[in-house]
Amino acid sequence: MNRPPVLTDAQRAQALEKAKRSRTRRAEVKAAIRSGELTIKEVLDLSENDEAVSKMRIAELLESISGVGKVRAVAILDRLAISHTRRLLGLGIHQRQSLIKEFAIPRHDLHDGRLVVLSGPGGVGKSTVSQEIRKREDFWVSVSATTRSPRHTESHGHDYIFMSDEEFDRAISNGHFLEWASFAGARYGTPRQPVLDALSHGRDVLLEIDIEGAKQVKANWPDAVLVFLEPPTWEELVSRLEGRATDSPERRAERLALAQEEMAQSPFFDHILVNDQVEHVVASLIRLAHS
Ligand code: ADP
Ligand code: 5GP
Repeated sequence: MNRPPVLTDAQRAQALEKAKRSRTRRAEVKAAIRSGELTIKEVLDLSENDEAVSKMRIAELLESISGVGKVRAVAILDRLAISHTRRLLGLGIHQRQSLIKEFAIPRHDLHDGRLVVLSGPGGVGKSTVSQEIRKREDFWVSVSATTRSPRHTESHGHDYIFMSDEEFDRAISNGHFLEWASFAGARYGTPRQPVLDALSHGRDVLLEIDIEGAKQVKANWPDAVLVFLEPPTWEELVSRLEGRATDSPERRAERLALAQEEMAQSPFFDHILVNDQVEHVVASLIRLAHS
C-alpha cells in the first residue's frame, strides 16, 4: 500500500482549511437546492467550474431537494442506473440528461392552465370546495392516491385512488407522483401525468393537498398559486370536524390536534381565504387562477 504523503504542519493546516471550505460550499449549495433557489440543472452546470460542488455525491444532492428523502433518492438513482456513491464529476452525459429531465419544471405557457394548490386544516371545507370546483369545465380537480381506507361515502377513482402500501411504494419509485406526503398515519400523493395533461390542454388544475405537499409544489413549481383555507373561527372548525360523522372519535381528536399545528402554517401561503361561504371561496379561487 502506498504510504500517505508526509505533510508539514503548514501543509496539513492548509489541507484542513480547504476541506472545511469545501464542506461549507456544499452545505450552501444544498440549502439553495432545498429552498428552490437553485435547480438541479444549475447545480450540475456549477459543478463544471466549482471543485467543491463537483465532489458532492449525487445521493446527497437528491436528498436536499424538498420532498425527496433517502428512500426516494435511492429509488431515483436505481431507476436512472446511477451508482449510489457516484459524485457529480463522475456523471455520464446520459445520466446527466436523465437527472435534469427527472426534475424539469414544465414551462408555463400562455396557453397552459394554472396550477392552484388548496390546503388548510382538516375539517375546514377543502373537499366541499373541491366538489364545487369539479362542476366547472375550465377547472380540473386532481384525484390523489392514498393508502388510507375509503370512508363509506367515498368511491375508488372519484374521491381517491386507494392503494396498498406496496402499490404506493412502487408509484414513488416509478416517479409517478408530482408530490407526496404522510398525513395522520397514511400516505397521499398527486399523480403527475394527469396534471400535466390537463394543464397542457389549457385547464386550470386544483390540487387539494396537505401543507407538506404544498411546500413541495412551491419548491418545484414556482408558477403555482398556493391558497390556505381558514375557518371563520376555531370553534367553527371544531364544530365542522365534529359534524363530519365519517371519522371515529379517536380519529377526530387526532385531527383536531393536527389542525392546530396546521393553522400555524398559513403565513407560508400566497393567499389566505376564509371559508365562510363555499360560493365565496370558489369565486376567489377562480379569480386567483386567472390573476
Ligand atoms: P376538509 O376536506 O377540509 O377536511 P370537508 O369539506 O369535509 O373538510 O368539510 C368538513 C365539514 O364542514 C363538512 O361537514 C362540510 O359540509 C362542512 N362545511 C364545509 N364548508 C362549509 C361552510 N362554508 N359552512 C358550513 N359548513 C361547511
Ligand atoms: P383526508 O384523509 O381527510 O381525505 O385527507 C387528509 C389530508 O391529506 C388533507 O389535508 C388532504 O388535503 C391531504 N391530501 C389529500 N390528497 C393529497 C395528496 O395527493 N398529497 C398530499 N400531500 N396531501 C393530500
